[in-house]
Amino acid sequence: MKLKRASAQGSASEPSERAQRVAEHLSAAVRIPTVAPDGPREMTEDESATFAALHALLRETYPAVFAACELDHVGRAGLLMRLPGETAERPLMLMAHQDVVPVPQDWQAEGWEHPPFDGVIADGRVHGRGTLDDKGALVVMLEALEELLAGGWSPARDVWLLMGGDEEQHGASAVAAVDLLRERGVEPWMVLDEGGAVASEAFPGLKQPMAVVGASEKGIATLSLTVEGLGGHASTPPRQSAPGILARALAAVEDNPFPVSLHDVSVEMFEGVAPQLRGPMRAVLGRAGRLRGPLARVLPRLGPEMAAMVRTTAAITMLEGSPAQNVLATRATATLNCRIAVGSTVVATIAHLEQAIGDERVQVDVVESSEPSPVSPTGLDPRWLAIGDAVEASYPGTVTVPYVMMAASDARHVAAIAPAVYRFSPLAMDKKQREAIHGPNEYVEIASLERGVDFYRALLTGSALGPAGLATDCSRRRAVP
Ligand SMILES: [Zn+2]
Repeated sequence: MKLKRASAQGSASEPSERAQRVAEHLSAAVRIPTVAPDGPREMTEDESATFAALHALLRETYPAVFAACELDHVGRAGLLMRLPGETAERPLMLMAHQDVVPVPQDWQAEGWEHPPFDGVIADGRVHGRGTLDDKGALVVMLEALEELLAGGWSPARDVWLLMGGDEEQHGASAVAAVDLLRERGVEPWMVLDEGGAVASEAFPGLKQPMAVVGASEKGIATLSLTVEGLGGHASTPPRQSAPGILARALAAVEDNPFPVSLHDVSVEMFEGVAPQLRGPMRAVLGRAGRLRGPLARVLPRLGPEMAAMVRTTAAITMLEGSPAQNVLATRATATLNCRIAVGSTVVATIAHLEQAIGDERVQVDVVESSEPSPVSPTGLDPRWLAIGDAVEASYPGTVTVPYVMMAASDARHVAAIAPAVYRFSPLAMDKKQREAIHGPNEYVEIASLERGVDFYRALLTGSALGPAGLATDCSRRRAVP
């Protein structure tokens, strides 16, 4: 007879008291369903009350943080806080958003094992919407500050906290915060927001986890393609209809992919990953800098993720033609969701598509767009080294590599006023967990929450951000390995 296997909690070591406490704080935050309002409209009374409940919970859970910080409400539900340091020069800014994406009414049909907004703690995990994106990071960030402040610590330089209230809906509160900071002449020296993670199975053939930190993010352009037709009855169709012309244009878009190129950030990532690999991949990726051209051409063949790494992508999403079975379309439209490679631009993206389509009857309009973010310094920059040091302190033995983020975050708004913006949540995520973000069964390991607190503690108290760092920022940047 086979014994039924104990739950994961039984097989792993019991979480520490401290980890359990962080888990309970996260669980309480998950139970407040802070779904961002759709679009730019005002919040309803219900929505405002929900966000106010989260604010009250945070205030109650992190009294030392709220006592020590100046607070501004920004945008619809954003919180901007300043923890004064000995100097206001070269401040640090930590970001995490409060809002979450909605779940379908019938979440059971989507396959959730635990109710998404119950914050169930089981099997050494906290389950629910937002545990990874992004309340997990929000809670561990505040937890670290609370511990430090309660222990009598004070920062050498100002620490700003920006907790967006509508990151999942274009981040108007982050934009408002940036406007306010600009008005006050605040230019964060270093910014850390969500993005990468301590990711396992991050790379084909790589088993051990790596800390992947976004050093930039791709741009976005939502474009509409429109073809006007003459309409009429379906019994007397023209030789070329609006949907037919549009279909040819869409086929041309797919047949003419954007040019490939391997960005410096990707080269640094590959060269960082290489020593962890075995076989030919180790040799090839270890020389990524010299093999840029061939790698850029080969990578797209390894699947859509690799392809997205080396080029701008255009996904055909919405399509519309005639509203009835027997009516010719007076207009046919398609939506292209483009993710613009770092190094390219919105204008270059449109030019490539117009050339590929080569048909003036197809009108290309920009619905919304944002350029790729500037690339934040890596290598020997003290800010980049500070992240690596904090990873080493909290996840010993884990290699830190930069990457270009494919999704968009509030960080892109802040990049306008800050020279070094990094995108990383210090939480362990395997492939399944990464796929659960915005999907069913989102959860975080309790053990990882505790390490996340250690990460922020190490970052805040590390030498780069302390008094020594303030004195040596410039000299260290010029250091030679
Ligand atoms: Zn997020």
